[in-house]
Amino acid sequence: MKLKKVVEGLEELYPLFLKEEWDFPGLVLGDEEKECKKIFFALDPTEKTAIEAKDWGADLMVTHHPLFFKAVHLIPSSNPHGRVASTLLSSGCALWVGHTNVDASFRGTNEALCARLGILDPEPMEPLGEISGHPVGMGRIGELKEAVSLEEFASFCQEKLPRAVQGSKMAGDPKMKVKRVAVMSGAGDSFLDKALELGADAFLTSDLRHHPSLDAIGKASALQRPMGLVDVSHFSSESPWFDFALQDVKNKLGGKVECRPSRICTDPWREIFI
Ligand SMILES: [Zn+2]
Repeated sequence: MKLKKVVEGLEELYPLFLKEEWDFPGLVLGDEEKECKKIFFALDPTEKTAIEAKDWGADLMVTHHPLFFKAVHLIPSSNPHGRVASTLLSSGCALWVGHTNVDASFRGTNEALCARLGILDPEPMEPLGEISGHPVGMGRIGELKEAVSLEEFASFCQEKLPRAVQGSKMAGDPKMKVKRVAVMSGAGDSFLDKALELGADAFLTSDLRHHPSLDAIGKASALQRPMGLVDVSHFSSESPWFDFALQDVKNKLGGKVECRPSRICTDPWREIFI
């Protein structure tokens, strides 16, 4: 199957128009006329994951995070992004990025996170309409089957999500009851107010900062509507997408491609042993 057809399939599953305005997902590198049989999935396009894709003989690497977040003018191989590009191009491997369009899609990162954590009937926190009867948009909010305490929910997240150094942190009353849960895979502190407005008992996301977190807890208690926060690593909140993506992409392409995930944890943090 030609890369062009593979890209069409990916963009039917994860339409590019669902992206955020500042984001530029899509085919970054590659010859659309070339045959594509092996698709390699990784969260980040780093030199290590590019080498892993090359060693497997991948024709296409699909990543969630962009190779370039900003416009660039120079990509020599002395620059980390240039190194990824030259590693992939020299081995004939294309790169397709599905970023905020995947976050918003049906069976994208946020729905995969809900599925992993048993959050039922997830609806977008910020709806963008429906595609083929499925609601799409940023974030998701749904309900746990049974109410649990915030500390039970946070430890359940730690147990169920891919392991990274950070584990799971919580803010708020550990004994408060949690049933209605909002999630935003990746860095989600811009959705703290939205989670509160939607009546979430807990908001799970990554990369929560000190001041926005304190403000959110303060606002919730001033409204006498407590909301707990659960912060997991960025890597842990987005990796569950591969549970869905590998199967969905293979099915979409009529089983004519081989798909495999990266085995490298691209979480940058490491523990300190003294
Ligand atoms: Zn991310």
